[in-house]
Amino acid sequence: MTDYHAPVSQMRFTIEHLADLPAVTALPDFSSVDGDTIQAVLEEAAKFAGAVLAPINWLGDRQGVKVANDAVVVPQEFSDAYVQFCQAGWPGIASNPDFGGQGLPKTVALACDEMWAAANVAFALCPELSQGAILAMDRHATDELKQTYLAKLVSGQWAGTMCLTESQAGSDLSSLTTTAEPKGDRYLVKGQKIYITWGDHPMAENIIHLVLARLPGAPAGTKGISLFVVPKYKLNADGTPGERNDVRPVSVEHKMGIHASPTCVLAFGDEGDAEGYLVGKPNEGLGAMFTMMNYMRLGVGAQGVGLADRSYQKSVAFARERVQGRAPGEKGRVAIIRHPDVRRMLLLMRSLTQASRAICYYTASCLDRTAHGTDAESVAHWQARADLMTPIAKAWCTEVAQEATEIGIQVHGGMGYVEETGVAQFYRDARIASIYEGTNGIQAIDLVGRKLLRDGGATVSAFISDMRAVDAPLANAGEDLATVRHALARGLDELVQSSTLLLTGERRDPELVSAAAFDYMMHIGTVIGGWQLARGALVALEQIAAGGDRAFLETQVVMAQFYAEHVLPRCSAHAAAVRAGSGSTMALAADHF
Ligand SMILES: Cc1cc2nc3c(=O)[nH]c(=O)nc-3n(C[C@H](O)[C@H](O)[C@H](O)COP(=O)(O)OP(=O)(O)OC[C@H]3O[C@@H](n4cnc5c(N)ncnc54)[C@H](O)[C@@H]3O)c2cc1C
Repeated sequence: MTDYHAPVSQMRFTIEHLADLPAVTALPDFSSVDGDTIQAVLEEAAKFAGAVLAPINWLGDRQGVKVANDAVVVPQEFSDAYVQFCQAGWPGIASNPDFGGQGLPKTVALACDEMWAAANVAFALCPELSQGAILAMDRHATDELKQTYLAKLVSGQWAGTMCLTESQAGSDLSSLTTTAEPKGDRYLVKGQKIYITWGDHPMAENIIHLVLARLPGAPAGTKGISLFVVPKYKLNADGTPGERNDVRPVSVEHKMGIHASPTCVLAFGDEGDAEGYLVGKPNEGLGAMFTMMNYMRLGVGAQGVGLADRSYQKSVAFARERVQGRAPGEKGRVAIIRHPDVRRMLLLMRSLTQASRAICYYTASCLDRTAHGTDAESVAHWQARADLMTPIAKAWCTEVAQEATEIGIQVHGGMGYVEETGVAQFYRDARIASIYEGTNGIQAIDLVGRKLLRDGGATVSAFISDMRAVDAPLANAGEDLATVRHALARGLDELVQSSTLLLTGERRDPELVSAAAFDYMMHIGTVIGGWQLARGALVALEQIAAGGDRAFLETQVVMAQFYAEHVLPRCSAHAAAVRAGSGSTMALAADHF
């Protein structure tokens, strides 16, 4: 019995109408992707997530992982599920067909990523990292390296990791010290990486580590970092895994959540023989790694969506069953779903989840339109939009995932705090999403520093104009969407003010960007979420008039109304915090804290 049912209709609606699927499938690379294919993929993924991954989620949380004899041990059920995952062809659904992938749009594959994460995020991290490694190698590696590694990674036979972090180099990678010495056509990598997700495991035949390290004489800082591929097993002449490379898991972390995902300390070259190969150009490794990091950032946003949705589903089921208290006009005690405060919590979870889903899928759609676009002008447009959306998808969606999964505990009352219900696991598992792949604070600074200020606000301003275009249809929709229209217009006006303030205020207040970035990120994410729900409500009204599924469509309208009344007003608070600048934030001396 599964307790996870992927919301396929909601996902399809979001892909189709809020992630602009028709614009994606109009691209030549996706000409063969039709509605039936998408529906079949979503339904099969939903079955797999519900029947194979969800049932071992709790087991993974209880059992965890350990290191024994230089190897990480994971629950056998995870290894079995991984075999099934690969046999079903899930690892390569969006990968390059040249290496055996199915070449589906990311806009569709991301919905599957959401399902894997909702069902079992600890498991999902393994194939997710492999996909990121594939993308980075596909973009930056030599043909020889691609031929050697990519098909095996795409099939899932081999898995990938991302090795950036060292104990002194977390958010700030400029201080990393791992080295790489040339030796013939390869390099000997030496150093210790920490927190490496799925850094070792027995699920795949080989593990391909993408490692940041410094070449001899490399410049200090981020300009002296190169990228290497270091396999767990060296390859025989025929390309099969041979002797063990000098890479070993030293330990695994004991964590708050994602217990079944091994978070490893990895030692490279303790015996001086960790062989690796350069990916991309010397000293340009960080740029190449950004391909993987940006991919993962959107994936982490989708993890947030999945966990928020799973917590919502469990909370609704509980609220229907749990009988407590009385309600006006009803005889006897009622199920708690009858109480306005419980409904407030459920609708908050649901509307935040749908807003974050729409943000993530839309970001994927921008990426598809960038990677597969055919004319330079539109590629540049969608690239700028994707660059803007990525830190928002990562940071806003994971912030609201924490809010939603935390509310899920509250809906359950005392039972939420008791581990056996499983709802606490979703919160514990979601908590890391705000931290890894660049903390949300760092994402917010990236958003303001690189995506708002660098082009003088042009990309943000173009997006605001696009969002304002829903005003006229909202006005035509009349009373039904009047609150949505007003709340969205106000959120957008305040966003213009905050953007202008940040664009002009740095000279006055050098700490402004860092002090105000988080509120700006929350503000723009909240507005984009409101815009997406408004678009969904407009489509729903049209479809209701055309005789569509009333219950489903009215839900889209109510979500937009609720969000406009309960969430969009948060924009004013974020705007006020941006206006406040760094004054009180920086007023205390460090030793007065
Ligand atoms: C479970 C788990 C899995 C992970 N998986 C991987 C992985 O697979 N590969 C990998 O390479 N790494 C991985 N990481 C590492 C992760 O990406 C880092 O933990 C993260 O980037 C933050 O670095 P840090 O922990 O050193 O925190 P720090 O950088 O020390 O940050 C601490 C706090 O200071 C803030 N801060 C730091 N610098 C600034 C600044 N300039 N401006 C404003 N605020 C700042 C941060 O936002 C944060 O709140 C993982 C971590 C965990 C816990």
